[in-house]
Amino acid sequence: MPRGVVPRQPAKTGRQGRTGVIPRVSKPAASKAPVAAGLRPARAERSSASRKVKYNPLAPDRIAEILERLNQLYPDVTCALEHRNAWELLVATILSAQSTDVNVNKVTPVLFRKYPTVQDFAALKPEQLEPDIRSTGFFRNKSKSVVGAAKKIVEDFNGQVPMQMDQLLTLPGVARKTANVVLGTWFKLNEGVVVDTHVQRISRRLELTGQEDPKKIEQDLMRVIPRERWTLFSHQIIWHGRKLCIARRPRCADCLLENLCHAADKTWSTVELHKNAK
Ligand code: SF4
Repeated sequence: MPRGVVPRQPAKTGRQGRTGVIPRVSKPAASKAPVAAGLRPARAERSSASRKVKYNPLAPDRIAEILERLNQLYPDVTCALEHRNAWELLVATILSAQSTDVNVNKVTPVLFRKYPTVQDFAALKPEQLEPDIRSTGFFRNKSKSVVGAAKKIVEDFNGQVPMQMDQLLTLPGVARKTANVVLGTWFKLNEGVVVDTHVQRISRRLELTGQEDPKKIEQDLMRVIPRERWTLFSHQIIWHGRKLCIARRPRCADCLLENLCHAADKTWSTVELHKNAK
């Protein structure tokens, strides 16, 4: 058992949740009603009650409870990347790869003052952009992506960021994660779930997926999370990953999802742990 995990303790009375004198319950008289051929309801009910209910992490009730508690924890969250239009959000999302939103938010205001429109970016050579975005890391690739996306938007989409997933995916440097951020946050279209490093980690901890590949994780999440919640769910899980469910030492004792979570790497627990939930 991982360090710090507190197992469930039996009640000191030896009786779980039962105190006082247990009343005697008289056995009900056997029904005199004739039983239809092949139907034995009393026995069927007894055997199903005694059968152990198998834990299903994807049970609709459990999913609904997770979503409800996320609403309580993060009622009005949205994307933390500062932006004023779809183009700025697209650029900020490209720059956020392998970086932090705080870091990107320091860079983009200066960047958009220097190059206010998508046409300004389209007129650049990638090398010209590199010094402005160097602090976000991977700046050579990101410069190519941003300038390439700007050129394509100007040439093929009349200077407007497209609203369709398949069109967004034709832009250099744009994969489903970035497209989902833009479609969900700016255009309010639930076309998919944003699977970043937080969503990847937490959806596994909560046993919403057993996959490791982001594309497969997204497919699993799209199956169990109601479509109208895809964007909000993504933002809530991303905030949860920043605030409480952090990678190395999740703050489980402070987490509202605690008794629904069986993650093997919890730091504190009132429920049994599942070794594959990580
Ligand atoms: S209980 Fe711990 S591991 Fe589970 S979701 Fe909360 S913070 Fe994350």
